[in-house]
Amino acid sequence: MNSQLALGALLALCCAFPSHGEDYAALRQKMVEEVIAASDSSPPSAAVAAAMGKVERHRFVPAWLAPFGYRNQPLPIGHGQTISQPIVVAMMTELLKVKGSDKILEIGTGSGYQAAVLGEIAESVYTIEIIEPLGKEAAERLKSLGYHNVKTRLGDGYYGWPEAAPFDAIMVTAAASHVPPPLLKQLKPGGRMVIPLGASFMTQYLMLVEKKLDGSVTSRQIEPVRFVPLTGGH
Ligand code: SAH
Repeated sequence: MNSQLALGALLALCCAFPSHGEDYAALRQKMVEEVIAASDSSPPSAAVAAAMGKVERHRFVPAWLAPFGYRNQPLPIGHGQTISQPIVVAMMTELLKVKGSDKILEIGTGSGYQAAVLGEIAESVYTIEIIEPLGKEAAERLKSLGYHNVKTRLGDGYYGWPEAAPFDAIMVTAAASHVPPPLLKQLKPGGRMVIPLGASFMTQYLMLVEKKLDGSVTSRQIEPVRFVPLTGGH
């Protein structure tokens, strides 16, 4: 083969196969469409769909799982923890009715994916992780991906982040036996909290807790879910 032919063959090859970035962008779009089609109770708004269409989920999972990053399923992220299923991320984000001016608290940073999705919509996100290596890795990942409005901290999220309170909305991404009173205290009147309640191996329910403007609190069961437990010494 002469050199011109070889160059032609090479060009044909590289143009026939999209680069990795393009591959993932297409898969990400497909994932969002799948999530919209499968959501019944709280379908994602345009803002939530756009945020999920932007965050590169494949960068939030271990490298060997990146090709599976856009499947609508939870994936292991090490230390016995998981990144939530995209449809659950969409539902929980939607339930909070996040606005561009909101300050959000997330308990259970994990990979940092949910924090990034919230960070695409809200003004600022505060997220707490109890497992040190996971928290550190997520903090570095969020920084390198440019999520400068997401603040991370290591510690027991049961106690919230009092110095940054009050929050417009709070999302707990690990299952608790009850709504932690410090979190309720740190929620603004008119604010919303989503939290899975229930023991680890029993049916858990995603709850929507609302603090009314007069300070009274109502809660509503949304649907059965499965989350890792909220740990810590509380
Ligand atoms: N939101 C994460 C997934 C959550 S998995 C993501 O988008 O990837 C639940 C996370 O909650 C785990 O990383 C677990 O270590 C953490 N966690 C459990 N108990 C906690 C506590 N008391 N305080 C802070 N984080 C906690």
